[in-house]
Order: sequence, then C-alpha cells, then structure tokens
Amino acid sequence: MKQKIEVGVLGATGMVGQHFVKFLQDHPWFDLTWVGASDRSAGKKYRDATSWRLDGVMPAGVAGLTVEDSKPGNAPKLLFSAMDALVATEIERAFAAAGHALVSNSKNHRMEPDVPLLVPEINPDHLKLVPLQKKRGWKGLIATNPNCSTVVLTMGLAPLKPFGITRVVATTMQALSGAGYPGVPSMDINANVIPFIGGEEEKMQQETQKILGDFLGDRVQPLAARVSAHCNRVPVVDGHTVTISVELSSKPTEAAILAAFENFRGVPQERNLPSAPARPVIYMPEKDRPQPRRDAGRERGMAAFVGRVRPCPALDWKFVALGHNTVRGAAGAAVLNAELMLTEGLLA
Ligand code: NAP
Repeated sequence: MKQKIEVGVLGATGMVGQHFVKFLQDHPWFDLTWVGASDRSAGKKYRDATSWRLDGVMPAGVAGLTVEDSKPGNAPKLLFSAMDALVATEIERAFAAAGHALVSNSKNHRMEPDVPLLVPEINPDHLKLVPLQKKRGWKGLIATNPNCSTVVLTMGLAPLKPFGITRVVATTMQALSGAGYPGVPSMDINANVIPFIGGEEEKMQQETQKILGDFLGDRVQPLAARVSAHCNRVPVVDGHTVTISVELSSKPTEAAILAAFENFRGVPQERNLPSAPARPVIYMPEKDRPQPRRDAGRERGMAAFVGRVRPCPALDWKFVALGHNTVRGAAGAAVLNAELMLTEGLLA
C-alpha cells in the first residue's frame, strides 16, 4: 500500500481502546490519527486522559493526540469502536449515518440482521449484508466482531462444519483481562473460579449460530445446531480456554477431524492480510496443551489453538480450544475485519 489510510478509535481511552492503540502501532496499512472518548476526556491529550494499563509504554505517536468528543465531524472514515456498551448504540449509528465505516468490538449491533458478525476466516461472505444497511439511510456502515469467548469456540468449530454440526456443549475458562479494568475483585477470584459471567452464555450461543450460519442472499440463516455454553471466570491473566463436545452428523474419524484442523484456511490467508496468522487453527498434539500462559500469545495472539481431540461418550468428539481474548477476541479481530473490508472495496 503506497499511502496509509487514516483511522480513528472510539473509546480509545478504555481497556479495549488501549489494545487497539497498541495493535495498530506500526500497522502497514492503517495510521491511527484520531482518538475519541467521552466528554470527560475530550480536549485532553491522550497521555493525560488515559491510564495506560498495558505492557510497554504508550505509543509515542498517539500520546500527543488530542482526544475528541465522540460526535461525527473531523474523524477519519474508518473508525474502530471500543466504546462502553451503554453508549455505543446511538453513537455508532450516528457515525454510520454520517458516512463512517464503524468496525465495532461492542456487543450492541452484533445480532442485528443487517450487520455482519465477522470472523474473516469463517464467514467473509456475511459482508454482503452491508448493502442492506442503506435501507436505514446510513451513508456509512457497521460491521462487528464476536464476543471474546465466541471467537474461540467458532474458530474451533469452523473446520468441523463440513461434517454437519448438530449439537455443541462448550465450557469456558475465561481470563481476567476479559472483564476490563479493574475487573473482578482480587478477593473474589484469587485461587477461585466464578461460575457466572453476566449475559455471556446467551451471547456465545446466539453469536455462534450466526457466525456459522449461511448467507442466503438477503439474510443469514443461523446454523441449526443446538449450542449450550457454560461460562466461568478463572484466575488467568490472558487467554480464554474452551472445552468443547460436539455431535457431527457425518460421523468423521479422528484422522478426518485432525486433517480438517490442519487444512483449515480462509480468505485472510489467501490474501495475506497483514494481521492474519499463517494458520488460523493450530492443532497441538501434546496431551496437556494448549495452555493459556504458554500458548495464547503465540502468532501475535491471532490464532486459535486446539488439542486433546478424543471420543466423547455423550456426543461424538471432544477437544480443547484456546485464543487470546483481547487480541483475537477484541482489537486484533476488528483490525483483521477492516483489512478484509478494505480488500473487498468497502472502505473506498
Ligand atoms: P472501558 O475500559 O470502561 O472503556 C470504555 C470507553 O468508552 C472509554 O474510552 C470511555 O471514555 C468511553 N465512553 C464512556 N462513555 C462514553 C460516552 N458517553 N461517549 C463516548 N465514549 C464514552 O471498557 P472496555 O473494557 O474497554 O470495553 C469496551 C467495549 O468493549 C465494551 O462494549 C465491552 O463490552 C467490549 N469488550 C470488552 C472486552 C474486554 O476485554 N474488556 C472484550 C471484548 C469486548 P472515557 O475514558 O472518557 O470515560
């Protein structure tokens, strides 16, 4: 790319916003030139408005930017959104109406029928929903990425879709960083497991059916599989682990399942998108892997790791999947979505 495209981040001062700032540093296509947040932060330099909580120092090129009010005006066309879900609906719509391309990490628009819920390796054709958004009178668009645990589940399941997925039971062990800052009180989570994350199980179930669903010309037909999720918070810093039992109608062999994981590739790999991992799903043969501390950060946090494929006495097969929740489950996912959208001509 001869000239980088200017981009902005809404909610740039928050936890996910900081992950966007970090992930976009030195991006070969995108140049972060605009940061937005609430009117509490607007007018301040980014370095003064933000309590930087990520490893490493705040990128120098962003530290001196002035935080803008989150209203359409001088923002670049392409905006990543990491806003508080309480305010994201109206603000994202206002920017989309004004002609911006909103690539959002917030949950607010994920399940809207005309909004793509994208995992670029799995359902790039769902971008064909975007033209339907013209009916809302928007000059721009909204596309979304999934919840941080859903993306791990769907990347583990997508290679198995050709075998006919009919039932799924998934249990998560979700990292603390997924709860934002300050997150779960240390007295609650130290040496403990909390078997409840509000709204998470419903999101995993519905989002999985939409992501693995088929685009039928004017809508997405959700995957007909029954999906049951159990969500738990565990004392892990980064990396969501999901144990998965799955029923498959064509009854594949173990060798066929391992080959499906091994051979799984998508459009991001074909097009060599800058944030795409060479292999989106990596099978680990060791009997005690993947593990969050050892594996979540590999491949810049953009791959899903699977392991422990074995017969399931209740359904057909069971296995473990792991992904980096703040990278592949948040900022990195949205940046990969934007890279795909750029190559589809949606950001012209
Ligand atoms: P956060 O740390 O509380 O940050 C929220 C951001 O929204 C801040 O930049 C804040 O700006 C901004 N904001 C708040 N009120 C606003 C308003 N009225 N107008 C404009 N901006 C406003 O939250 P977070 O943990 O980063 O989460 C952000 C979003 O990502 C949420 O929708 C969350 O559900 C989703 N998400 C989070 C995670 C995670 O790992 N934490 C993972 C996946 C998805 P100020 O600093 O000025 O208040």
